[in-house]
Amino acid sequence: MQSVMLGIDIGGTNTAYGFVGEDGILLSDGQIPTLAGEGPEQLLERLTTLTVKGRDKLAAEVNLIGVGIGAPNGNYYTGNIENPPNLGWPTVPFARMMSKKLNLPVAITNDANATAIGEKYFGAARDMENFVVITLGTGLGSGIYVNNELVYGEDGFAGELGHTCVQVKGRDCACGNQGCLETYVSATGLKRTVFELLSRRTGKSTLREVSFNNLSGQQIAEFALAGDIIAREAFQITGEYLGVALANAAAFSRPEAFILFGGMVAAGELIVNPTYMAMERHLLGVYRGKINILTSALPGSSAAVLGAAALAWNEAKNKEKF
Ligand SMILES: [Zn+2]
Repeated sequence: MQSVMLGIDIGGTNTAYGFVGEDGILLSDGQIPTLAGEGPEQLLERLTTLTVKGRDKLAAEVNLIGVGIGAPNGNYYTGNIENPPNLGWPTVPFARMMSKKLNLPVAITNDANATAIGEKYFGAARDMENFVVITLGTGLGSGIYVNNELVYGEDGFAGELGHTCVQVKGRDCACGNQGCLETYVSATGLKRTVFELLSRRTGKSTLREVSFNNLSGQQIAEFALAGDIIAREAFQITGEYLGVALANAAAFSRPEAFILFGGMVAAGELIVNPTYMAMERHLLGVYRGKINILTSALPGSSAAVLGAAALAWNEAKNKEKF
């Protein structure tokens, strides 16, 4: 009988799920609207129904043995989703609630950590024991592996590189501070840089035709690849900020590689090259020439679900009782 894990990625708008084998093969998947405004119990109810239906639909020789969840502010230690900013919930013991409903072990962590575990099990970090995954979406998330273990820290929330300060008195951040890395390096940060450049430069750019809210990181990547000068300069600036931040991060975790993930990474070497050059320039001498910058090897559309399932597989491997 084949064992599978259910991976669930709870997002602000949609919640994706999939049944994943130990080899990382997705047996069946789908997505539902999160409808965060209706509360966590409602989402839990719909997820439970889906799980039971999905499990019944799979061949009789498939055995669902556990659930992994990636969620904003998901706390691995407590199993809680703690005051998630984009869901508008209070702290909810989501893992415990789901475990009770399904009578299965359930583990939870935040989305960036889940992506890092996904890279470790099914992606670019398969053979690595020390690496850092940087997720570039609305914000910047990070999952840090040191000595073959994901770093959770004192309370489960270690690894918030997105909120390290890269510019004193810099851009306002959603967290309430100023100058955080993610205000420069994220899809939103990249857009802010594009609009600053558009106001400063006179050159032609297709980006002048697009409104801020209609622009995505992936689109800017496409414009840059097509030769748009503003988009290219925006990636150059973004890469410089990121490279400095990675050099700093290397000083306390000495990874084999940094792995970049997210729609804007479609720009490829247009983001990787300036990042690498800035990182090398700021790295401590003993690290120079030894740390790679890679892009994710997970399929973009199912990466979050694979990561969540990998969390469950990791629990099953490392814990007697999961
Ligand atoms: Zn911040």
